[in-house]
Amino acid sequence: MQATRSTCPYCGVGCGVVIESRGAQITGVRGDPDHPANFGRLCTKGQTLHLTAAAHLQPQLRALQPMRRAARDQPLLPVAWDVALDEVAQRFAQIAEESGPDALGLYLSGQLLTEDYYVFNKLAKGLLGTNNVDTNSRLCMSSAVAGYKQSLGADAPPNCYEDLDHAATVFITGSNMAWAHPVLFRRLEDARRANPAQRWIVADPRRTETAALADLHLQLLPGTDVVLYHALLHVMLWEGLTDPAFIAAHTTGFEALRDRVREFSPAVAAKTCGLKAEDIVQAARWIAGVQADGPRAPTLSLWCQGLNQSSSGTDKNSALINLHLATGQIGRPGAGPFSLTGQPNAMGGREVGGLANLLSAHRDLANPAHREEVAAFWGVQVVPAVRGKSAVQMFEAAAEGEIRALWIACTNPAQSLPNQAVVRRALQRAEFVVLQEAYTTTATAGYADLLLPASTWGEKEGTVTNSERRISRVRAAVPAPGQARADWAIAADVAQRLEKLRPPARWPGWQGETLFPYRSAEDVWNEHRESTRGRDLDITGLSYAQLEAAPQQWPLREGETTGAARLYADGVFPTPDGRARFVAPAWRNVAEPRDARYPVALNTGRLRDQWHGASRTGTLGRLFAHSPEPVLELHPQELARRRWLPGKLVRVASRRGALVLPVAPSEAVAPAQAFIAMHWGGEWLSGGGVNTLTSDSVCPTSHQPELKHAAVRLEPAALP
Ligand code: SF4
Repeated sequence: MQATRSTCPYCGVGCGVVIESRGAQITGVRGDPDHPANFGRLCTKGQTLHLTAAAHLQPQLRALQPMRRAARDQPLLPVAWDVALDEVAQRFAQIAEESGPDALGLYLSGQLLTEDYYVFNKLAKGLLGTNNVDTNSRLCMSSAVAGYKQSLGADAPPNCYEDLDHAATVFITGSNMAWAHPVLFRRLEDARRANPAQRWIVADPRRTETAALADLHLQLLPGTDVVLYHALLHVMLWEGLTDPAFIAAHTTGFEALRDRVREFSPAVAAKTCGLKAEDIVQAARWIAGVQADGPRAPTLSLWCQGLNQSSSGTDKNSALINLHLATGQIGRPGAGPFSLTGQPNAMGGREVGGLANLLSAHRDLANPAHREEVAAFWGVQVVPAVRGKSAVQMFEAAAEGEIRALWIACTNPAQSLPNQAVVRRALQRAEFVVLQEAYTTTATAGYADLLLPASTWGEKEGTVTNSERRISRVRAAVPAPGQARADWAIAADVAQRLEKLRPPARWPGWQGETLFPYRSAEDVWNEHRESTRGRDLDITGLSYAQLEAAPQQWPLREGETTGAARLYADGVFPTPDGRARFVAPAWRNVAEPRDARYPVALNTGRLRDQWHGASRTGTLGRLFAHSPEPVLELHPQELARRRWLPGKLVRVASRRGALVLPVAPSEAVAPAQAFIAMHWGGEWLSGGGVNTLTSDSVCPTSHQPELKHAAVRLEPAALP
């Protein structure tokens, strides 16, 4: 038996695992006791990785060879790798020639490894000449990216997991981390056991498993987060709980914010948010942490999709960060605004510029100097200036015929993007849909003209970055089955073909070499880390050899041996004047408020034992024991008022579509609200998954869609 250290491929906690294998078979998995994210612990999803890996070897589930469809109504049939790669290159070159490179779109995934992301981005932005390369991470953390950059000057979560132990107050807002980040939540429970005085405040419209364990649950109405944060600051100002010295020395813009929050008294906010004024006052005092007999007690904020998946997601992030800046609660142990990333490598994707508005190493596409730096580094004359299309825009453009070809890697937009009617129209209308995927069973596979089999967890090499900026190695324990290949290698092979068909204008001094000379994931890593030299996330000191010894946090510059556990301890922020910026957003309600026709607020989210569209977790009966079927959760009062019994089939309709599913009573959901888990697709639900209902309204700054709210109406389902 062989043991291989790697990283769990599910959530952004980034737990280390030890994969046990025999020959080409993964036989077991256990938590890595030496990994600093989890110290040996795994949640139910991590503990069953070897079982899902075994389930996926069934030929009917796994993509084992390239497959091609002669026509849309024909089945996918095997084709040789060379033929498949030639076809991608030729069709992409032809469409770029006829309609310009912006007629192409690449849609990636936060489950790809950093090396995969790097090659895809260079292929799109450096070779094809389009910035139309975006990712499902847009649905997950782009509001946190925009909020951090807007307020602190860089997309850099300033904290580390150890801060859970040091915090006196933990403010969990818009996150059910007990289910979505289970191992980190266990660490938080340990911290409170060790320090029973630690207080938890949870702000969430649902009484989740996390909220149920809080000292104070602020069960606010959906979309009112900015009102709550402004009211907390109002109380801090009123009671003299801010830190004027920190504000004066390290920030700008406080006067405008003070004017903004003046109108958000606890009484006003209580009415808007559906809370008690005294709870808002109590929360403000705990978060401020002022003590009569000692230094300010540290407060740590943790958040995830409840803030990010919103049409005002960036405002919510900045309004929360304001609280930390106003009280100096940043840059010291146990204090800071710490966003939790949903996916295993949403962070790594950001690091290589894996969004339509970013470039390598946290550079901005909108910055001409950054474009020039990246072009010179890659050896091309230019990186195009036009902002690429973000996830929702990309599929809207394909539905309109503006984008003619889509290359989708490691994600399932036919289930996961909002407003599915448009997404499916896009996939039908696009002339050429390439799907690079490990599984043949996703909803998106039904639209693919060409399926490229990709290797997956346990079979591939590379790196991921978790929520605390810690980079860990992902290692292959077994060879990929059939003809499946690493994602970066597939992209590089297509790129080399495209270089011949459509050579880019090269930087002076070019000797004829390829832009994509990689022989291994390590080659890609070495190029990526060199691109970070001098940047905020500089990892020039971090080689694969060093990662063999231990995962490391960035930055880790050349000559250094350990990364930075915390950022901004010196009070200097990566802005032009070194000061953090207060932002003073007005409150904007959800994009689609409830009304007489659609009177119920629908919320969506995760279950404990499933992951995303359940391509992997859905293969294992054991992971259905906790939540065996899709249900519409309603408060028992709602059921009583409507005289519905549990299990009754109900039609849920939004302005975009309708689903039928059974109701289940849940005290977690407030009256006039409803909840459906995100994991169930069309194979489980008549009418498709929950994204048949969700809205494609996006935050104007981050372009992240409002997956957490849609106005719906409920009616008894008509019997067939
Ligand atoms: Fe994997 Fe996240 Fe569970 Fe850790 S907490 S084992 S990373 S799913």
